[in-house]
Amino acid sequence: GETLSNSPGLLGRLLGRKAARTVTRRVLDDDMLEQLEELLISADMGVDTALRVTANLAEGRFGKKVSTDEIKRLLAHEITRIMEPVAKPMPLYPKRPQVVLVVGVNGSGKTTTIGKLASQFKAAGKSVVIAAGDTFRAAAVEQLQVWGDRAGVPVLTAPEGSDPASLAFDAMTKAQEDGADLLMIDTAGRLQNRADLMEELAKIVRVIRKKDETAPHNTLLVLDATTGQNALSQVEIFKKISDVSGLVMTKLDGTAKGGVLVALADKYGLPIHAIGVGEQIDDLAPFDPADFAAALTG
Ligand code: GDP
Repeated sequence: GETLSNSPGLLGRLLGRKAARTVTRRVLDDDMLEQLEELLISADMGVDTALRVTANLAEGRFGKKVSTDEIKRLLAHEITRIMEPVAKPMPLYPKRPQVVLVVGVNGSGKTTTIGKLASQFKAAGKSVVIAAGDTFRAAAVEQLQVWGDRAGVPVLTAPEGSDPASLAFDAMTKAQEDGADLLMIDTAGRLQNRADLMEELAKIVRVIRKKDETAPHNTLLVLDATTGQNALSQVEIFKKISDVSGLVMTKLDGTAKGGVLVALADKYGLPIHAIGVGEQIDDLAPFDPADFAAALTG
């Protein structure tokens, strides 16, 4: 399918469509701004952010002739400016273990991301323990074990249907006994019953705080970039039911519509710690605003 790297990009699309009457320089007028807005919205940037980006871009240039290269550069600049403050790796703290709670809806890529992160931390010389906290989905637990094996990291599990908080407590005990650097806790992603999920997450937090009152040190929300504007409502929901400290955006290899990242950054300012760019263990990359803006504008 179309992805950020193989698609013509926003400007490519605009110019492709207009190729017949495109000259090197065009007047930056209402018509052109409207087309730009439409493109940004079609790339999932959301109306508010799209309007702000085009308004900034037009400032001091409205009515003047601009080249398509200039537009491209200006657009990339505006996007980079929004994204730079959120491009931050996951902070590491001198805690043993540093507890990383991983939340997100089913299918967003939680399991995969935990596996990738565990592998990266391990490669950086850290000892990692994983807790398979989605105890209601046997498949999720199995999948996490596969990832744990790949990463060479122990995965603690509990019988199907058992209390995730009790597993989290046991995992915390083991991680402390082992002197592990990091404990990553997977959680359920059933949004069908939000109150239940909220209570489940709150209970996990309560029990791990019995062992370390500063835990969890990070709450990562995993979002599927291909879900477009849905990612925004997922942030709304998870901010209400947990203490989200940062984002991992998955499946950026599978979309040409990465504009939702700009909308997220613009609206919430939550750090983007990493991006998923494939299904393999090494397919997790730091978020690079300039690269991203260049790929998006094309
Ligand atoms: P979970 O239900 O949130 O634990 O989601 P999973 O980790 O099981 O991922 C759901 C699907 O998305 C799986 O098929 C993964 O291989 C796939 N996936 C996860 N991250 C990425 C990514 O960055 N790129 C691509 N292309 N697929 C991904």
